[in-house]
Amino acid sequence: MKACFLRAPAAIETNPLEYAEAATPEPKSGEVLVRVRTCGVCRTDLHVIEGELPPRKSPVIPGHQVVGIVEKRGENTRRFRIGDRVGIAWLHRTDGTCEYCRSGAENLCDNPMFTGYSVDGGYAEYVVAPEDFIYAIPAGCPDEQTAPLLCAGIIGFRSLRLSGVKRGSRLGLYGFGAAAHVAIQVARHWGVEVFASTRDARHQKLAMDLGAAWAGGTFDEAPKKLDAAIVFAPAGEIIPAALKALKKGGVLVLGGIHISPIPSFSYDLLYQERMIRSVANNTRQDGEDFLRVAAKIPIRTRVQIFPLHEANRALNALKNDAIPGAAVLRVAE
Ligand SMILES: [Zn+2]
Ligand SMILES: [Zn+2]
Repeated sequence: MKACFLRAPAAIETNPLEYAEAATPEPKSGEVLVRVRTCGVCRTDLHVIEGELPPRKSPVIPGHQVVGIVEKRGENTRRFRIGDRVGIAWLHRTDGTCEYCRSGAENLCDNPMFTGYSVDGGYAEYVVAPEDFIYAIPAGCPDEQTAPLLCAGIIGFRSLRLSGVKRGSRLGLYGFGAAAHVAIQVARHWGVEVFASTRDARHQKLAMDLGAAWAGGTFDEAPKKLDAAIVFAPAGEIIPAALKALKKGGVLVLGGIHISPIPSFSYDLLYQERMIRSVANNTRQDGEDFLRVAAKIPIRTRVQIFPLHEANRALNALKNDAIPGAAVLRVAE
């Protein structure tokens, strides 16, 4: 099969992904082999490639937002049939036995494996995954538009849940890439008023097109105080600004897996029972719940399509804020 490999972490400007021939993987017990149709490009891929996340496997095939077709079943599989369309996300598997798994918080598992990081992912023609950790994709959801739902979408959804917003709440979104452009559609569906802060004018326009009440620069103050805010941009200097925008008792959710150092700030910004919490991964329940909501709304993602062999170009564009919405690799028709 053809695949994009990362041999060693390097700046994306050096085009470190190598498009080459690889052995097609074999599904082990409990796993299925999936023929990849599309794979979304996530900022986490950039963190893996540039070494902001310490290497777990080398070489590694990145990619954790796969839409594809079950091609082959390993032993002891029963959930899917050959030809079923499925989605593969970031959480490849958990141990199922640690205190977090046993208490319904498998996203915090002590021994997790991640797709496209600790095991090979979807920047390839084929990928294997445990059938218990993949998702059935509803009919009528196009391959390209669905791929970004599998990480950007699910993580945005978990961030919204942790923010506690409800009908009539005011929500700030900091950074308006793939995750925010999905989260705003869920928030609007729930009757939440959205204020988008992002440095790129095209992203501000996309936010307004998707129903934001206001869009401005990252450090511009929103016209109203916020009940909650979600920071998707990986920049620590946004956190004091986002805290300043919150009402008393407001919640600040950090949606990124990596964020640059946070500058020190006055306790006044946190006092009055404001709260900061991060989001780590997601449970399978988050994924199932989100995909159901996404099909019902229905969520429409804006995507820019790249062929598999141009993964480096897609990631460079992502780093330069040049993708309104989400970048998606088309691997096969
Ligand atoms: Zn566990
Ligand atoms: Zn991701």
